[in-house]
Amino acid sequence: MTMQRESLLRAISTEVSLVSLQQRHKGRQISLSHPRKEPRRVPRATTSQRCIRTNDIINVGRTARHHTFFEMLGNFSFGDYFKREAIKWAWELTTQEYGLTPERLWVSVFKDDDEAFSIWRDEVGVSVERIKRMGEEDNFWTSGVTGPCGPCSEIYYDFHPERGYLDTDLGDDSRFIEFYNLVFMQYNKKDDGSLEPLKQKNIDTGMGLERMAQILQKVPNNYETDLIFPIIEKASELAMVSYKETDDKTKTYLKVIGDHMRAVVYLLSDGVLPSNIGRGYVVRRLIRRVVRTGRLLGIKCGGEGNIQDAFLPVLADTVIDLSIPIDSDVKTRRHRIIEELKREEQRFVQTLERGEKLLDQFLADAVSSACSNGSDPCLSGESAFLLYDTYGFPIEITAEVAEERGVSIDMERFDIEMEKQKRQSQAAHNVVKLSIGSESDLSTGIPETKFLGYDDIFSSSTVKG
Ligand code: ATP
Ligand code: MG
Ligand code: MG
Ligand code: MG
Repeated sequence: MTMQRESLLRAISTEVSLVSLQQRHKGRQISLSHPRKEPRRVPRATTSQRCIRTNDIINVGRTARHHTFFEMLGNFSFGDYFKREAIKWAWELTTQEYGLTPERLWVSVFKDDDEAFSIWRDEVGVSVERIKRMGEEDNFWTSGVTGPCGPCSEIYYDFHPERGYLDTDLGDDSRFIEFYNLVFMQYNKKDDGSLEPLKQKNIDTGMGLERMAQILQKVPNNYETDLIFPIIEKASELAMVSYKETDDKTKTYLKVIGDHMRAVVYLLSDGVLPSNIGRGYVVRRLIRRVVRTGRLLGIKCGGEGNIQDAFLPVLADTVIDLSIPIDSDVKTRRHRIIEELKREEQRFVQTLERGEKLLDQFLADAVSSACSNGSDPCLSGESAFLLYDTYGFPIEITAEVAEERGVSIDMERFDIEMEKQKRQSQAAHNVVKLSIGSESDLSTGIPETKFLGYDDIFSSSTVKG
């Protein structure tokens, strides 16, 4: 996809600039792009931004289009071009530069945005059957309770136009994929909830590289694109299965590994080291999920001739090989990334088996007590917390295993236990930060970003749309 990435940037940019995009998502997604020290004021910009969205973790491997790590291509206007140009250029880019068939493109607009509706219909010429008015949840972007906000317009690709104009749920990814979101920042939301027009109107867009790759490479999901599939193939080789011939459950496991490995390699490369707090815990839980998922597939080590007691380093090698020349940082950090992964995998494996036995026991107890008192089986929040705290089981691992056995988890109690621990660990925060610096220099030169993962990791809300 390197060519596409570059041609997109060329096509939509008159001025290329690496602006910091951290603000635009207000910390709900960790931005890995590095702002320049003294940003120049520019009216337009285009970007290629690496993103982590932990709130999509439950969708990974289950939908065709969601990742925890993805690359977002964007074009921006800061008080310069606005809605009409943004729409027309998005159309020109996708139909002329990328050559997508216009009849396969559907668009959504915010329900009250008649202006966007008529630009699409009258100026671009999209037929009204393929323009959907959608509500606030999908098509209105806000930066918070108050502040800059505005309607969005999203572009979808239709894989099955033969299905016609009935039953057209744009969220159904067996037929459609949303690949480009245009945000028209045109209002300021006031304390009383009213919207006042902004003097300077801005454009903020995002196009998922993996989703565009899926469309252009004509594969059934993002995972089978050349951005991710080599990692899946490597994992299949270690698990001694054939991706094409295996069952759906195994395919999902392989996709989880493909996704999470990209996330951890780029997080480590950008200086986020595994720890029990903050963003360090995001990387740790992703690593642990790969380790456990790999073991479910029967992978225990990197195979003959490779590192015998760890398999993540082998997969990381593939991820690093796939990184493109502009991500040269990743390649120069190969050794340190691999060492860190090896250490982290070994650390987790030591407690994994003991924790799994204990979890088995807890689940069996939950099922038998539910049978005797006629209730639904539920794992106590204290047990889930013990697994997290003592055995290093991220809650989604416990939840995954419990779900397979039909057991729910008392999340309310778990959250209370977590809250207690969070308060205690707050005091240790500074100490951990210092030890990260001296343990490894992966984190040097990386600017601080605000961490909101405690609140957002299980949130079903999305950043935009
Ligand atoms: P969806 O409705 O599919 O979850 P979204 O509306 O949440 O997507 P946006 O917030 O509009 O996505 O982000 C802009 C673009 O970034 C999307 O149009 C898509 O191309 C890409 N994108 C968003 N979330 C993901 C993800 N989890 N994995 C891969 N690409 C994504
Ligand atoms: Mg989403
Ligand atoms: Mg969207
Ligand atoms: Mg959407």
